[in-house]
Amino acid sequence: MTTAASHASRRRFIKISVTGLAAAPFAAALLSGTARAVDAVSESDPTAVSLGYKADATKAPARKDSAAVCSTCALYSGKPGAGDGPCSLFGGKLVNAKGWCTAWAKKA
Ligand code: SF4
Repeated sequence: MTTAASHASRRRFIKISVTGLAAAPFAAALLSGTARAVDAVSESDPTAVSLGYKADATKAPARKDSAAVCSTCALYSGKPGAGDGPCSLFGGKLVNAKGWCTAWAKKA
């Protein structure tokens, strides 16, 4: 390998390294966004449909108790004040704190 070829190769390596380092935070943000989307329960999920899950409890016609929302449900383990949290009925997938389904059970 000549000196000129060696310098060109080193420059190319540095360019690729710098580009990779610059792109890393964006890749991490994209991946975490994707993972979060996958983890949220969709109203069209077959289990959600069978349980009448609505991300907005006020849109659930079977709901009779106005205090019944996911954040007051025994199966919800989201942090107080969070917009969503895991539901054990959905295997830990995220449900809306203001959501509701027919399996709602008052938190003790
Ligand atoms: S089981 Fe409770 S926390 Fe889970 S979706 Fe139904 S109401 Fe919400």
